[in-house]
Amino acid sequence: MKDDLLDVIKNAEELHYMEKKDMVSLFRESKYDEALFRAADRVRKKYVGDKVHLRGLIEFSNICKRNCMYCGLRHSNKSIERYRIPPDKIIELAKKAVGYGYRTVVMQSGEDDYYTVDMMKYIISNIKKMDIAITLSIGEKTFEEYEAYKEAGADRYLIRIETTDPELYENMDPGMSHENRKRCLDDLKKLGYEVGTGCLIGLPGQSLESLADDILFFKDIDADMVGVGPFIPNADTPLKEAEGGSFKLALKVVAMTRLLMPDINIPATTAMETLNPNGRTIALNSGSNVVMPNVTEGIYRKLYALYPGKICTGDTPAHCVNCITGKIVMIGREVASDKGFRVKSI
Ligand code: SAH
Ligand code: SF4
Repeated sequence: MKDDLLDVIKNAEELHYMEKKDMVSLFRESKYDEALFRAADRVRKKYVGDKVHLRGLIEFSNICKRNCMYCGLRHSNKSIERYRIPPDKIIELAKKAVGYGYRTVVMQSGEDDYYTVDMMKYIISNIKKMDIAITLSIGEKTFEEYEAYKEAGADRYLIRIETTDPELYENMDPGMSHENRKRCLDDLKKLGYEVGTGCLIGLPGQSLESLADDILFFKDIDADMVGVGPFIPNADTPLKEAEGGSFKLALKVVAMTRLLMPDINIPATTAMETLNPNGRTIALNSGSNVVMPNVTEGIYRKLYALYPGKICTGDTPAHCVNCITGKIVMIGREVASDKGFRVKSI
């Protein structure tokens, strides 16, 4: 068994393939963790190199019409103060992000219908003039809406599948359908976006088999970016008593995703650093090649409370860029200066 699993890792490093049952065995066993992480690091180096892409994250509204069981922004949560950043202020934040050297901005929010298609087009087209890549992460929209954003200049879209288990998904995201989530990913691909997806690790009732399915799903849809993070229970949600996800398991999902999808972009997520003070550097050494530092300013950072203990909520964007650059240089890597699109190699 022992040598078999080392062979599985070796094989995945060369052929980018792994059987579901072996993925589950690797999730269960801790003996091969280091071998898995080192293999993922080699694949990362070989295919996407030592450059780390920074994406400046603008959390522009914490208002959401959805009610995801795990998320602090859920509509039913009456204990957070809500905010919306006006369009011109969002454009200003993007300009500052460019000043800090970021070549991509990620605009993320709850599902907030206040921002009409025309407003989004205005924001996107103005940011586009700054010659940077634009990523949107604003939830489920119609094909026509995605098309309008694309025409205005959006390049990428992040929408996690959260879990590929349809029953678990529909329990976790009441009123939402798994089919529609997949339709969104499909529409975005058809429209020529670089598509980012991902999952939460450690949702109540999530099996290791279903986590393996998640990775196979990312490969199946040929995702351009995969962001995964541990589920962190939020006291303002119905899942406050849940156990939450483990850092190690999330790291294994990162590493396996890199082995199977060697040329994609994989962020070292903020949730990873929330569970481990060196979480992002550890992820960067286990398959990741992207970090998304926050460029949201002031009080908004604290109010964008998806989960508790979010890092850097008291810091300024200027501090964050220096801090993350220092961490990247410390591990012998380099901050990329290009827009960081996926370069397909196989
Ligand atoms: N509303 C958009 C984007 C904002 S939410 C959307 O849902 O797509 C961004 C991500 O935060 C979600 O995809 C989810 O995976 C993550 N998230 C929400 N609550 C979380 C929690 N308690 N722990 C960890 N991640 C969480
Ligand atoms: Fe809204 Fe996204 Fe949170 Fe769900 S995960 S409640 S859609 S912000």
